[in-house]
Amino acid sequence: MHTPTGFTPSHVLPALLPGTALAFAYSDAKLLVGGDEQTPAIPTLAELGAAGVDGVRHYLGELQGVPCVAIVLPHPYEPAAGLRLTGLRSLFFRLPESIVAIGARAFQVVEWDRTHRFCGRCGTPTRDKGGERAKECPACGYVAYPRVSPAMMALVTRGREILLARAHRFPPAMYSALAGFVEPGETIEDCVRREVKEEVGVDVGNLTYFASQSWAFPHSLMIAYTAEYAGGELRPDGEEIADVRWFRADALPEMPPSLSIARRLIDATAARLRDA
Ligand SMILES: [Zn+2]
Repeated sequence: MHTPTGFTPSHVLPALLPGTALAFAYSDAKLLVGGDEQTPAIPTLAELGAAGVDGVRHYLGELQGVPCVAIVLPHPYEPAAGLRLTGLRSLFFRLPESIVAIGARAFQVVEWDRTHRFCGRCGTPTRDKGGERAKECPACGYVAYPRVSPAMMALVTRGREILLARAHRFPPAMYSALAGFVEPGETIEDCVRREVKEEVGVDVGNLTYFASQSWAFPHSLMIAYTAEYAGGELRPDGEEIADVRWFRADALPEMPPSLSIARRLIDATAARLRDA
């Protein structure tokens, strides 16, 4: 997910929001939608108002001139007539990509609101801080921002081969690039070298940035690289990684769906190696 074309982000809630504003209201991880199963719709503020729905609001910005607001609903929550709660993933391909992207952004803001109601240092209830998307503690001054957790993804190459691994949590035949979260004190490049070594036992060099992808489940930023094999024996860690193999760029196994940055990274790299 990324910032959609025509979206101007902002965190300053306008004094007056029009009834046409799009309302991304979440109860826990579920989004409130109208319409039916096949043609879901994000309700407007006016529609929510008519149904008596409201909660803490966080402004997101304007999508092609239409204001978008995130709303924190209680949990559990019983939707009003004509509305229902659904997972954001069920809206992929049923709503425009831009709307799903704003929905993902709203989810992360609501998740942050829900999990930062009290100061993590002294336990005092927090309040929204003026001037930025942050919560501050009125007692001790601690400031908490929305969480974004950087993670690296690495596709290791060796000549015309690429290294793909199968994690225990994957479907039985699926292989993908390696991935892992950045630890305190690391650069992304440090993280790539450490994770590859830990997960499959090899050293890598010549790291090249590929692309990044926001992933709202719950708050990752995946930063993808290619890296060249630089030595060592393949040795899966046995915990996270079930199997790891070199694959020829023209004979690849079952892989993640094309929506994922993993698949884009593998496809682009395999095409480059085949043409080399
Ligand atoms: Zn505090």
